[in-house]
Formats: sequence, C-alpha cells, structure tokens
Amino acid sequence: MKEAMDFIKQHPCLHRAAARRFGRIHLAVAPACNIKCRYCTREYDCPNESRPSVTSRLLTPREALHWITGMVKKNPYIRVVGIAGPGDPLANAATLETLRLVHKRFPQLVKCISTNGLVLPEYVTQLKAVGVKTVTVTVNAVDPLIGAQIYDYVQWRGLTYRGIEAAELLWAQQATGIVEARNAGLYVKVNTVFIPGVNSQHIPAVARTVARLGAFKMNIMPLVPLADFAHLAPPTRKEIALARAVCKQYIPQMDWCRQCRADAVGLLNEEDNGKNACCIARR
Ligand code: SF4
Ligand code: SF4
Repeated sequence: MKEAMDFIKQHPCLHRAAARRFGRIHLAVAPACNIKCRYCTREYDCPNESRPSVTSRLLTPREALHWITGMVKKNPYIRVVGIAGPGDPLANAATLETLRLVHKRFPQLVKCISTNGLVLPEYVTQLKAVGVKTVTVTVNAVDPLIGAQIYDYVQWRGLTYRGIEAAELLWAQQATGIVEARNAGLYVKVNTVFIPGVNSQHIPAVARTVARLGAFKMNIMPLVPLADFAHLAPPTRKEIALARAVCKQYIPQMDWCRQCRADAVGLLNEEDNGKNACCIARR
C-alpha cells in the first residue's frame, strides 16, 4: 500500500501536487485503432486522451527509446512514460515492444497506457510484465443505448460490429478489463468525454459503475467537436464543474488534465507540451 502511495505522489496525472514537480513523456508509437468514436478524426491524436489539434510524428520503438533517453537526461524530473496514441495503444504491436525496451533501460520510470479498453483483458498480464502500473480506460457510456450514439463501429476478432451490439461489446470488454487490471494490482483511471446532449446526463452512472468495478480516479474531459459531432457545442466550464461535483461522491475527480498531445513531454503546465517532439522531426 505504501509503495502504491509513493508512486502516485510522483504521478502528475494522479496527484495534483505532483503535477507541479514531476513530468511525463508520451511516446507516439501507436497509430492504429480498433474502434471508431464519432468525435474522432484520424488526422489527429486520439481525443480520448490527447488534444486533437495537432498530429504527432510517429516513432518506431527504437526511435522512442532514443528520444526518451535524451529527454530523461535533459529533464530529470520526468517520472512517468505513457503511450496514449495517436490511435489505441493496444491495437499496435509497437506498444508492448516500446514498453519492453523502455522498462529495461528505465525500470524506475512509471509506465502508463491510455486505451479504449476493447482488448484490455487480453493484455493485462503482458502490460504488468513490462512495468505498466497505471491504465486509463476511456468509458463514455455504460448503457449500450447511449454508447451506440457515440461509437460508429468496433472491430474485434476479424468482425466489424455496429450500433447497440458494438456498444455492448465495447462496454463488456471495458468492464472486464477494469476488473482484471485492478485484480492485477494496476491503478485504473477512467476518462469520460462529456458530449452535450448525448452522454451528459449519463456521466454520474458511468462514475458510479466504474467506481464499483474498482477504478480509482475519473477524468471528465470536454468534447472537442470534430467529425460526426462537429455540429455540437462543447460543454461549458460550468457544466464540466457540475458533472465533477456530482461524480466526486462516487469517485475522486481529476480536474487538472491538459489534454496533452500523444508526444507531449515535460510538466503538465508547460504551454507547448509537444515542442520537444520537433527535435525528432529535425534529427
Ligand atoms: Fe479515435 Fe481514440 Fe476513439 Fe480510436 S479510441 S476512434 S483513436 S478517439
Ligand atoms: Fe495527464 Fe491529461 Fe495529459 Fe493524459 S492528457 S498526460 S491525463 S494531463
């Protein structure tokens, strides 16, 4: 328990005070995705975790190791290495390969991934083996009727699912993944995208359900209107604050997320979180 608390206190996305002192580095090694969220356009980073305004330069696992080696030397306050896209980390073989290389070179760094959760149950053991301690799962709905409005399709074991069937499948996998990750001793955070008029009234039910399954923290993120949801107005700060106030009775809330790029590096409050990524492009 003490070890768990020590690591959380150095994680800028799990502990508010840590965000001022410790940094994270995202490795953009995962372009593919196995679902289609209606607010996503594949030209950008996965909006389930990242700011969808810029496209990250993709890295191979070896390039990622090279980059992180330089960045950790330059920024010794980096404590966390995450893979958050630009697609879904678990839909890309490069994710585990990268984590394996990084864990071998930097066993002291906390490894994180952010996923839509579709294949999480299959990967919990392997993630733990490569040093992953924290998993973020984006859960936008626990009711398939609402999920069907959010997901265009889900691709699973060679088949494409749509509508309620797709939403049921995704939620079943997410729920199993959260429980199995928890049982394996991983720290589970849930991201939920606040989509006005679609899941906004449903978010407390998401909070209640994921807390019951064992998630430790929730991050309610405002919709960035893109793709099929480009016509929607983003939620106001007041709406987000109200949702957090309601949900915190079920699960602690993260309210300092910066919706970083999939190649972000440094402290969360550094304005140009992707700046250092340009060094790679010029290399
Ligand atoms: Fe896009 Fe991320 Fe959803 Fe995949 S999981 S469709 S990359 S928002
Ligand atoms: Fe942390 Fe939010 Fe940035 Fe992810 S997107 S690294 S949760 S601040």
